[in-house]
Amino acid sequence: MLEGAEDAVGTASGMAAFLAVSFALLQQGDHVLLAEGIFGTTTRLYAGYLHKFGVATTVVKVSENADWRGALRPETKMIVVESPTNPVMLVADLPFLASLARANGALLVVDNTLCTPIFQQPIALDADLVIHSAGKYIDGQGRCGGGVVAGRAELIAEVRGVLRTAGPSLSPFNAWIFLKSLETLPVRMRAHDANAARISAWLADRDDVRAVHFTGSPTHPQKDLVAAQQSGHGGLVSFELFGGQPESWAFIDSLRLVSNTTNIGDTKTMITNPATTTHGRLSDQERRAAGVAPGLLRLSVGLEDVRDILADLDRAFRVVRGGRFAGFQ
Ligand SMILES: *Cc1c(COP(=O)(O)O)cnc(C)c1O
Repeated sequence: MLEGAEDAVGTASGMAAFLAVSFALLQQGDHVLLAEGIFGTTTRLYAGYLHKFGVATTVVKVSENADWRGALRPETKMIVVESPTNPVMLVADLPFLASLARANGALLVVDNTLCTPIFQQPIALDADLVIHSAGKYIDGQGRCGGGVVAGRAELIAEVRGVLRTAGPSLSPFNAWIFLKSLETLPVRMRAHDANAARISAWLADRDDVRAVHFTGSPTHPQKDLVAAQQSGHGGLVSFELFGGQPESWAFIDSLRLVSNTTNIGDTKTMITNPATTTHGRLSDQERRAAGVAPGLLRLSVGLEDVRDILADLDRAFRVVRGGRFAGFQ
């Protein structure tokens, strides 16, 4: 199996995967540790809904191992992380969290949607369960929704029981699309990765960009951990403009090829302003804590010719600076 897991099961969506895992393996009185900056809906599922059934959650900064240790309680039964998180692309120390979970009788659940098993295999790093939103890179063309849970057979049997009983199963047609898509996943991921590396380096060289976030960047704050856990990086690159939100909106409006979409993992390059989309429901303080600046832009770099993507970005930089677009070589 791609994830190196004993068993896996498809679900109706990525969120259905989290729901099924939680219904199967948590009960009233349990406590869950969630990494800060993970997919907003995942946080809402735990803090907003599972909370009603007596499951408490604490949010922890993903890169701070001491904070994870400090937040642990005797009743902590699950640690939920994404690695890397987006848009700021911080990584979780997966072997550390796996040992912390194990010593406490808890499970480490890793959302591996961004890296896919092509670039990261959390089970080999001792995670208990891996979750995917399959409508992202696994489908790769934004056609179908679905999810995956992979892990030890005894855990997957519990998850399968919830899926059968509660209903959020994967549709057979979507399953067929995903199986076809898996045939091209390795070549697609390497192509996303190559385009993203080129674009991230181009952005990092510009003096009108305040910061660039990409796990493959030579200046990534957790460079060694990234190298130990990931064999590649995928297509997610974020960058911050000096002009804040007005400039980032003007930038998006000036693009012609790159589409203004909050999705990720498509063949097409997409851009969004996380502060007003994916992280729009957070308070200013929560956004600041998650490192989501008003002028931050997140790119999901696609499979177009990289020169076309760079030309489009260059056009937008020229427009927001009041210059004229003169083409790109
Ligand atoms: C999209 C996404 C999800 C949710 O998946 P759905 O299939 O949309 O329910 C979970 N985690 C990550 C990292 C995602 O990008």
